[in-house]
Amino acid sequence: MSTTMPHTAPETAADTAPNFWLQDIPKQLAALDAGLLRRKRRTVAPLHGAHISVDGQTMLQFCSNDYLGLATHPELVAAACTGAQDFGVGSGGSPMVSGHSTANEELEQDLARFVQLPRALYFYAGFATNASIIPALVGEGDALFSDALNHASLIDGCRLSRAQIHRFAHGDLAALEALLAASSAQRKLVVSDAVFSMDGNVADIPGLLALCERYDALLLLDDAHGFGVLGPEGRGCLAAAGLTGANASPRVLYMATLSKAAGASGAFVAGHDLLIEWLLQKTRSYIFATAAPALLARALQASVRLMEHEPVLRERLQARIAQLRAGLEPLLARTSWRLLPSHTAIQALVIGSNDAALALMEGLRQRGLWVPAIRPPTVPKGTARLRIALSAAHTQEDVAQLLAALSELADLTELTEPAAAALETN
Ligand SMILES: *Cc1c(COP(=O)(O)O)cnc(C)c1O
Repeated sequence: MSTTMPHTAPETAADTAPNFWLQDIPKQLAALDAGLLRRKRRTVAPLHGAHISVDGQTMLQFCSNDYLGLATHPELVAAACTGAQDFGVGSGGSPMVSGHSTANEELEQDLARFVQLPRALYFYAGFATNASIIPALVGEGDALFSDALNHASLIDGCRLSRAQIHRFAHGDLAALEALLAASSAQRKLVVSDAVFSMDGNVADIPGLLALCERYDALLLLDDAHGFGVLGPEGRGCLAAAGLTGANASPRVLYMATLSKAAGASGAFVAGHDLLIEWLLQKTRSYIFATAAPALLARALQASVRLMEHEPVLRERLQARIAQLRAGLEPLLARTSWRLLPSHTAIQALVIGSNDAALALMEGLRQRGLWVPAIRPPTVPKGTARLRIALSAAHTQEDVAQLLAALSELADLTELTEPAAAALETN
């Protein structure tokens, strides 16, 4: 540094210069408070089954994406411990340098075999995967076709790519076809959640694929909520649609997170060998990020084993789904509530107004039950809802307890007042 440069801007606590950020943020936070939109975290710790400690209080939760109850499964815990003993806790580098452990390699092979696709690539996080594989596949001059209800990580990936984004109304294949037909782009990528995370419905995968074939497009499916839950042995949405193994299409890229039903963290993308090789060469969050630790790969290998060989996990989940849906029927008959069609672990009970949904969440909280209320803009206006996430960790008694509480609350009239304690956003 030049010695003649005067030291005019001291970066110390005594800095009294105007600071736009520190003046602006309190105003922005006040606006969030006024709209009941300020997000808060709770500190949690697992207790037993679906019971957790929330800020020190025992609650029965219906908000976890751990759909098979694997996050605390003894076999995963033991595999992670052995993995730590064998490999340590950090991977030490990018998979392109020294981070691609034998455990991570074996996991990729297990995943490809399990989802019945030619090859899989294991990423350290789901959000980063979506945000960076899309820019690896399309760029300026190319075209993207994105379902309006896609996950934020897919939306960010689309934006980062600089390709032209065509958004189509949720599930509207006719609208998608019109957009594809009008596009003159050479590279066309259709992007969709496989299971939509706020509704629990499944995309029309054969319909999407047929359009991709007709218009020479590639299809990227995000099966975060279907992997481990849908299809034979939980092999996911593509297997459920009969589009794996000998019927696998070279124009489908299958992405799934390993942070939900698989019970750990990370994600993978599977598909044709050339597509996966391309992603390995070009995905920035793969090349420039430290590889996931081998202990997680070992835990995830145990997840895949359990998914494949313990059908009782999925049977238990399916029984809870059936129990909840049947038990809600009499409530639907005497309220304005609507239960969206879903055979997945995500059951959306649409209440309507934000206040009513928040009050219901608060009523449940007072009864020791944690079910998140989801409001606009996360879901369309007037469709505020309870997002009930079921798991193989729930017992029949757990679901019965939720149904009893909802029945009691359905009869209360004061449910139109938003409770102060329900200041929470999801
Ligand atoms: C959770 C989620 C992701 C992000 O995955 P993480 O493993 O949490 O980073 C991506 N897509 C969908 C649809 C999700 O629900």
